[in-house]
Amino acid sequence: MSTALMVWIDQDLCTGDGICSEICPDVFQERDDGLWVVKEEASHFGTSIVFDGGSGDGHGPDMGNGVARIPDGLIDDAVEAAEECPGECIMIEPYAQETIDARGV
Ligand code: SF4
Repeated sequence: MSTALMVWIDQDLCTGDGICSEICPDVFQERDDGLWVVKEEASHFGTSIVFDGGSGDGHGPDMGNGVARIPDGLIDDAVEAAEECPGECIMIEPYAQETIDARGV
């Protein structure tokens, strides 16, 4: 699965309104504490990882280390989510392999 962009959320700024997952539910989801996190879904990448700061299979780091690849077909939706985010806390960056490798998952 090719991907040109990555995304992460600064949870310190998230207002918890959920607009991001209304626009792009395959990339954004709510965490138990009412803040939102990013994810990679198995339907796009073969394995599901939620970047919620949890431990164990299927979990990855949150904040700036919890960077998810954006499926190319969802880039427009993810960018729209970032534009609509009232916390201005959805960070979209060009793909960087070293950042993906540093996630540890
Ligand atoms: S749109 Fe932004 S502020 Fe709202 S839940 Fe998503 S990340 Fe948080």
